[in-house]
Amino acid sequence: MVDQLLPTPPVATTPEAPVMIARALSRHYSVSRGLFKGHAMVKALNDVSFELARGRTLAVVGESGSGKSTLARQLTLIEEPSGGSLQIGGVEIAGASRAELRALRPTVQMVFQNPYASLNPRKQVGAMLAEPLRLNTTLSAAEREERVRAMLAKVGLRPEHYQRYPHMFSGGQRQRIAVARAMMLQPRTVVADEPTSALDVSIQAQILNLFMDLQDELGTAYVFISHNLAVVEHVADEVMVMYFGSTVEYGDKAAVFERPLHPYTRALMSATPAIHKEDRQIKLKLVGELPSPLNPPTGCAFHTRCPFAAERCRAEVPVLRPFEGRLVACHRVEEI
Ligand code: SF4
Repeated sequence: MVDQLLPTPPVATTPEAPVMIARALSRHYSVSRGLFKGHAMVKALNDVSFELARGRTLAVVGESGSGKSTLARQLTLIEEPSGGSLQIGGVEIAGASRAELRALRPTVQMVFQNPYASLNPRKQVGAMLAEPLRLNTTLSAAEREERVRAMLAKVGLRPEHYQRYPHMFSGGQRQRIAVARAMMLQPRTVVADEPTSALDVSIQAQILNLFMDLQDELGTAYVFISHNLAVVEHVADEVMVMYFGSTVEYGDKAAVFERPLHPYTRALMSATPAIHKEDRQIKLKLVGELPSPLNPPTGCAFHTRCPFAAERCRAEVPVLRPFEGRLVACHRVEEI
């Protein structure tokens, strides 16, 4: 069978086992403050934990600079975490051998925001989609072509598109090609970083539906990164809200959307009229900007923008703790 020729990860998972487990995953960078000013430690990602099961979607939400893309780079093995644990397919990344990492890489694929920039303009679509198979399997050229043509049909493209170049496609079609490329090796997990935000609104729903159809058919798990809560509500099973590199609220989509508890989540939802539950909660306006990572606030990182900030918030970092069926990092969640 052709399927047997696809790369085999080092440790097989059972259908029930999480495809990905992150525990206190962190990424800190040392950056220069300027001439003669020494270095500062920027904490781009702090103690992020989650489990992702086969066929499920974890949506990661937050403003630009909240740590979402840093998380994506750790999960796709583009960057090494500087702390914590990441297990992919049962294999711990820290300490994995080169051979183990090489076998794991095809199991986690990425779809980028900009389909115009992420496709090689000099390659025909057929060759582009066949490339991962050529590099990672022993399939013959004829078998590769058969696979590519089947995938083109699966993502809603036509047979004649096989020999066309990326510039001959619309934005939505290009993102279909990018999704097809990510799916060629039948990955267990796809990390999608704002995959619809560069597309016309009229096309966005088609691409979201494509992601969901492929998940139903192939059982792929998604980490879906987005700042658009209307998109998140459409695709997510679980939602993780990030602020300044840390998780501030994490739980089932239904719980988080029905009654967001962290003031930052509430502010994000208030800013999205289509989903704001006007009758259930008072609107919160998000004022100001994210603090500078070179000069992080003390205590709760959100205290500089939070209307409920109190003395304790400025002094003590809130821990992520269970409350009303999800995890929340807020000292005052019981009161507000
Ligand atoms: Fe606001 Fe304080 Fe809660 Fe932080 S800990 S979100 S500052 S109330």
